[in-house]
Amino acid sequence: MPDTILSVRDLDVWYGAARALYAASFEVREGEVVAIIGNNGAGKSTILKTVSGVQELGKTVHGEIEFLGTRVEHKPAHTLARMGLAHVPEGRRVFPQSSVEENLLLGGYRRRRNRSALQTDLADIYLRFPVLGRRRKQAAGLLSGGEQQMLAIGRALMAEPTFLLLDEPSLGLAPLVVADVFTIIRQLAAEGTTILLVEQLARMALEVADRAYVLDTGSITTTGPAAIVAADPRVQAAYLGA
Ligand code: ATP
Repeated sequence: MPDTILSVRDLDVWYGAARALYAASFEVREGEVVAIIGNNGAGKSTILKTVSGVQELGKTVHGEIEFLGTRVEHKPAHTLARMGLAHVPEGRRVFPQSSVEENLLLGGYRRRRNRSALQTDLADIYLRFPVLGRRRKQAAGLLSGGEQQMLAIGRALMAEPTFLLLDEPSLGLAPLVVADVFTIIRQLAAEGTTILLVEQLARMALEVADRAYVLDTGSITTTGPAAIVAADPRVQAAYLGA
């Protein structure tokens, strides 16, 4: 059995008096792609932001989050980043006025690597995403949505993460571009990258994932191997348009 990378137990999150998560428990093991699927507002981003230590005003967190064997529910995002967690937030959030290369370097500086190591890492990213290499001197804001999503993933990979969190990578992208983004996710998975993916586009997420959790208004209602979850008639009716 592979090692557990992330174990979340009974996670409750409130924003002020509004509850966003109800005793959510799930885990991610080394080398797995785990998908959390759910509708708009189900709490998917809340899970990722809470796991990666993003502080938000008015937010209260109860429960246990264990990352690489250490309890981290009260640790800040920069500590988790240093431990090897990289979070690609919803909506991509690249720096639009900075060049593609500057955006990538920001991901690498987190690990305080020296210049030649950073150049090697940049070359690796350009091999994986040739379009970023071709456009490396351009302002990131001029890239298409799909290219910005590649850049956001590339920036996260520059930190050489142990664990990659992807928040709704399909958001706002045309179907063909979504397919390209999922090809990248599939490649990362084939290389053994451990990934926690949250997605509203359940069909794509279940195709790429090893295991899945269904999140319904803040509660995990179903879990299992992704193929089994995808075959569940309730999941098909609610999330797969059957
Ligand atoms: P989406 O795909 O629309 O982002 P989601 O599944 O990621 O949906 P969340 O963004 O996690 O859902 O939101 C879960 C609930 O928490 C929603 O009711 C949302 O309005 C609420 N919420 C999220 N962030 C905040 C915040 N900073 N302050 C107050 N309420 C919030």
